[in-house]
Amino acid sequence: MKKNLPILSAITLLGLVLSGCSSSDKSSESSGVVKVVAAMYPLEFVAKAIGGDLISVENFTPPGVEPHDLELTPSQVVTLDDASLLLYISGFQPAVEEAAQLSAPANSLDLLSVDGLDLLTATEDGHNDGAEPETGDDVHSDEEMVNDPHVWLDPKRLVVIAKAVASKLSEIDPDNSASYETNLAVFVEELETLDQKFVAGLASCQRDLIVTSHAAFGYLADAYGLSQEALAGLSPESEPTPKRLNEIGKEAKADGTTTIFFETLASPKVAQTLANDLNIEAAVLDPIEGISEGQTYFSVMESNLEALRKALNCK
Ligand SMILES: [Zn+2]
Repeated sequence: MKKNLPILSAITLLGLVLSGCSSSDKSSESSGVVKVVAAMYPLEFVAKAIGGDLISVENFTPPGVEPHDLELTPSQVVTLDDASLLLYISGFQPAVEEAAQLSAPANSLDLLSVDGLDLLTATEDGHNDGAEPETGDDVHSDEEMVNDPHVWLDPKRLVVIAKAVASKLSEIDPDNSASYETNLAVFVEELETLDQKFVAGLASCQRDLIVTSHAAFGYLADAYGLSQEALAGLSPESEPTPKRLNEIGKEAKADGTTTIFFETLASPKVAQTLANDLNIEAAVLDPIEGISEGQTYFSVMESNLEALRKALNCK
């Protein structure tokens, strides 16, 4: 690692020289596009909603790739050198944080650290505070609690994040701050409309337990009064033990659960096997860690709401 430092520093210097030239050459033109790097889709989505044509956004997570523990390519690390802003979520993709320290983008914003964001903590196996399983021999109190990174799945928390991104962009590019503020206002209104749809759509349901593939829906559950049991933990990599599967199976049966949720980017095998064993349905609940062609955060959230309403038998 140490070996790379002189090279990276040289690139940093070159980047400074080049960006210095271009900004002084074009100071009166609007082509001084702010270069933003987003570590994953939800952050790309927020940046584009607020920055519009005034910024360029590169998403470090390629399409179809599950972003937890993303590895970076050398050229991505170099990209950070002349980025004006890196948007990331701490504790989610350690390689991004390491690269940011090495090649020092001009600004970086950890979206779990923004003011006014109500964070949830969880154990690595996905239990949020106060949501321990009732079986006495499965105690999690000695496990380390970490910040649950999946904040974007609560539209109201995403409002807090969007505001932080807007003020950062205004700080970097003050000439366009009025445009960032205007775009922010439109985006916030859309998020608030989405939130109202969730509030109304989940107001009167027969059940409130969602059985999910990995523990991505803690914030969504917190926002709309649901409770989550996840087959895997905070990361989809972790496989549930047979004991844990058995526990969830029993709980699902007792609750009258009709659906086990799986995801688009992680393997659906465990969820589908459990659904088969319980003779109930398996359906998609998308944690929006990536996006498919033609979809957006809003369209997937609407599909998620429909999937939840069906599974929980909401009026
Ligand atoms: Zn996740």
